[in-house]
Amino acid sequence: MITPDYYYVIVGGGLAGLQLASRISQDIFFKGKKIAIIDPLPKSKNDKTWCFWEQGKGNWDDLITHSWKTAGIYSSETEKIADLGDYSYKMLRSIDFYESIKKQLQLKEEFLFIQDEIEKIDPVTRTAIGKNGSYTATHFFDSRPDPQFKKDDKRSLIHQHFKGWMIETENDRFDPTAFTMMDFRIRYKNTTCFTYVLPVSPKKALVEFTFFTPFLTEEKVYDQQLEKYLKQVLRIENYKILETETGNIPMTDYPFEDQNSDHITKIGTGGGWVKASSGYSFKNTEKKIDELIENIKSGHRPSYKLLNKRFRKYDAIFLDVLEKRNDLGEELFMKLYTRNSIQDIFRFLDEETKFSEDIKIMKSLFHPQFLKSFFTKI
Ligand SMILES: Cc1cc2nc3c(=O)[nH]c(=O)nc-3n(C[C@H](O)[C@H](O)[C@H](O)COP(=O)(O)OP(=O)(O)OC[C@H]3O[C@@H](n4cnc5c(N)ncnc54)[C@H](O)[C@@H]3O)c2cc1C
Repeated sequence: MITPDYYYVIVGGGLAGLQLASRISQDIFFKGKKIAIIDPLPKSKNDKTWCFWEQGKGNWDDLITHSWKTAGIYSSETEKIADLGDYSYKMLRSIDFYESIKKQLQLKEEFLFIQDEIEKIDPVTRTAIGKNGSYTATHFFDSRPDPQFKKDDKRSLIHQHFKGWMIETENDRFDPTAFTMMDFRIRYKNTTCFTYVLPVSPKKALVEFTFFTPFLTEEKVYDQQLEKYLKQVLRIENYKILETETGNIPMTDYPFEDQNSDHITKIGTGGGWVKASSGYSFKNTEKKIDELIENIKSGHRPSYKLLNKRFRKYDAIFLDVLEKRNDLGEELFMKLYTRNSIQDIFRFLDEETKFSEDIKIMKSLFHPQFLKSFFTKI
């Protein structure tokens, strides 16, 4: 093979692509290796607000907009106010993340940002073919979701779809020390849906209406639900909408790992790094990148053992329950949050618990549908 243009090509300069590039740039192992990051977008807009929990200090603390130590979970019958203990829930605006990493990488001559849309990667010639050019490399890290990805008889797909408004009120209406993780008091038919509230100051909060459903909904439904929540639950009538955020995160047990090969590693959402039962992926991405780097350094395929089979089975069963009984969401999440400590839930969702701890958590939210879904998925 003739010398490739780059050692690595990273397709997609979003969360996974930029975290990977940043991590590579900090490791002497990769010194002198030319790396291209290719994305059709300049990534100069705040297109997402990422939130995640972590213990103590983290890698992104300098970029954090706000963090909380108390979480509220509410239903029409009960509520839980949880002290996060040694965890914090942190908010990071994507624009701050993109700008910071780009600034850091532009100082390094090994890294090149290219604006192009990759149409395909040919594993034989090891070439990424874009609209504006072709790029050869020894290995490709590809964050494009698989175009074949769709729901089928074997796989579940729940859409986590939402709309959020960053609102500003005239008077002080929020407590910026506490956020609302899930509030089920405003329902939409018999679906799994809730409101999420992130107050960043006494007058400003991001209020999001979120569905976990097998189907999507019309834009006006989110607006109606947000209006209802502000009026009926928060009792706020006068507010300005400063920004809007919409999204649809796929929660699925699709076998993303089958797309990996010796010369192509799928990363981010396209690599199955979104936790299927929660839709969170920010911290997971950080973890997967550490593991991927260790794999490279120890001579394994980058994707070696990246996805945890045990937790993927739990997630698959949970998704099947939500697909078959979407009305159960409120009951299951309320059982989860009221019968377990928030720290244990975070560790479970972070896939850090032992099997005996998993059983305890699963028993706490038991419903007969889990048995049916267990047999469907096993
Ligand atoms: C609105 C929103 C809010 C979210 N909030 C949270 C949260 O609070 N916490 C959390 O943990 N997770 C959250 N997520 C889920 C997840 O963390 C994000 O989706 C995250 O951005 C996924 O990272 P990624 O690298 O896979 O995708 P992205 O960050 O979307 O990056 C993919 C990149 O690939 C580029 N690309 C696409 N096609 C091509 C192509 N053909 N050629 C080259 N480049 C291409 C895109 O332009 C993009 O820049 C959120 C998702 C959304 C949509």
